Amino acid sequence: MSLSLSQLANPAIQNLSPYQPGKPISELERELGIRNVIKLASNENPLGPSPQAIAAAKQALADTARYPDGSGYQLKLRLSQYLNVDSSQLTLGNGSDDLLWKTVQAYVAPGHDVVMSQFAFVSYAIATRAHQANPIIVPATDWGHDLDAMAQAITPKTQLVFVANPNNPTGTWNTHAQLSEFLQAIRDDIIVLVDQAYYEYIDHPDYPNIATLQQQHPNLVATRTFSKAYGLAGMRVGYAISHPAIADMLNRIRLPFNVNSIALAAAQAALSDQAHIEKTRKLTRSGMQQYVKAFAGMPLPYIPSLGNFISVDIGQETSAIYQAMLHKGVIVRPLVPYGMPRHLRISIGLKEQNQRCLRALQEVLEL
Ligand SMILES: *Cc1c(COP(=O)(O)O)cnc(C)c1O
Repeated sequence: MSLSLSQLANPAIQNLSPYQPGKPISELERELGIRNVIKLASNENPLGPSPQAIAAAKQALADTARYPDGSGYQLKLRLSQYLNVDSSQLTLGNGSDDLLWKTVQAYVAPGHDVVMSQFAFVSYAIATRAHQANPIIVPATDWGHDLDAMAQAITPKTQLVFVANPNNPTGTWNTHAQLSEFLQAIRDDIIVLVDQAYYEYIDHPDYPNIATLQQQHPNLVATRTFSKAYGLAGMRVGYAISHPAIADMLNRIRLPFNVNSIALAAAQAALSDQAHIEKTRKLTRSGMQQYVKAFAGMPLPYIPSLGNFISVDIGQETSAIYQAMLHKGVIVRPLVPYGMPRHLRISIGLKEQNQRCLRALQEVLEL
C-alpha cells in the first residue's frame, strides 16, 4: 500500500531528493549522549539575533490569537525606507527559500528550462524539478559561477536563471561588471534571480548594486534573508526586491499569512539594530582570518569566501572525518550532496568555537 501511495504522487515529486539540512545540536546530543555540542553547519549567526528583535518577538507573542498582517505592511514600510525602494517592489517570504520557490512557480511551467551553476545552492534544482522543469547546470570555473558560460547555456525554453551571489556552499561571487554584462547578454524576457542571502556581510566595492542594475534590467530580482546576518533563521523571514509587476505575481501565489506575526515583529526590530549587524560583520571577518590562517598552515586548500562560511578541501572523502568530528561534538557540513566529496563547509562561529573546530579537524586528520 505504501508503495502505491508513493506512486500516486506527481512523478516529478517522486524523483526528488529532499534537502538535507545541517544536523541539529539536540539530535547529536541525543544520539551520542554528549553535551556542549557546537554547530557550525548552517551559516547561522553565533551572536544570535539582536536583543531588540527578541524583545519585539516576546511582545508580539501576546497578540498571537490574531492573524498576522497578511500584507506585512509595517515590515515592508521599514524595509522600503531602509533600502530606498518602493513598498510595491517588496515581497515577503517564509525565509528567502519561500521566494525562490515562488519565483519558479510564477515564471516556470512544466518543460521549461532553468539555468544555474554547478555547485550552486541546492534549492534551485529542487524547486525547478518540483515544478517539472529542467535544471540546466553550467560547469563552474574555480568553484564559482561562470556567467559567460551561463549566458551561452540559455535555451529558447529558458524562463529563469539563478545566480547565487555569493554562492553557498562555495562563497564565490560575481562582480557588478560581470553581472551587468550578463544581463546585457541575455534576453530581457528571462527572470534573473540574484540570491543575496549573505548580503549584509559584504562591503566589497565591486559587489553588485542591485538598484542600479534594476533600472536597466527590470527582469532582475534580488532575494535577501533575516536568517543569516540578522540571526533569525528560526523565524523564517526573507524578502525579494523586484519590479512591482513581478512582486504582484509573487503576491498572487504567496500563501496567505506566509510570514507569522512574531517573525514580522522580530525582523522589523532587527532591521533597526544595525549596530548588531556591524558587530556580526566584525566577528565574521576576524573568524574568517582565523580559518584562512589555520588552513594555510596545515596546509589545506580552501575556497576564498565572501560569506560567513568557508569550504575546505581535506584531501580525502569527508564522511569518516565528518563522523569523527561529530564524536568530538563539532557539527560541520559535508558537501557530498553538492558533488564536492572532499570539501567540508564550516560556518564562522565565535572565536572559541572556531578554535575548537580547527583543533578537532587537526586531530581527526592527524595533522
Ligand atoms: C541560507 C540560504 C538561503 C535560504 O535561507 P532562508 O532561511 O530560507 O532565508 C538562500 N540562499 C542561500 C544561498 C542560502 O545560503
